[in-house]
Amino acid sequence: MMEKRTVLYIEDNPHNRRLVRRILEQYGFAVVEATDGPGGLALVRELVPPLVLLDIGLPGMDGIEVVTLIKADEKLRHIPVIALTASAMPGDRKRFIDAGCDDYLAKPISAPVLLQKVAEYYPEETPN
Ligand code: MN
Repeated sequence: MMEKRTVLYIEDNPHNRRLVRRILEQYGFAVVEATDGPGGLALVRELVPPLVLLDIGLPGMDGIEVVTLIKADEKLRHIPVIALTASAMPGDRKRFIDAGCDDYLAKPISAPVLLQKVAEYYPEETPN
């Protein structure tokens, strides 16, 4: 069992990883990181994390492919996936949601908006 409230963040940009880690750790989350699509998908399968933050532009396999594979797997599809990306072209939000993302956050990352989304999608604690 993971002890702290864990978030998996799949992101190739070290600056964004450091920023998100700093924000979430301040609020008591443990952040597990992957830096490419295949590594991220492997960690989703291994950890079955309560929440995934997902960059879209990733080496190896892009975020659209990663979320598609998560949502195609009946053991994983319950995991909320929030896309975090600088892509702001018209239609991008629809593309992410259509691929299976539960929500979408535009970069640059804002701490209050990130925390609000994580709180909104983080699953309720299950009493023992
Ligand atoms: Mn990227």
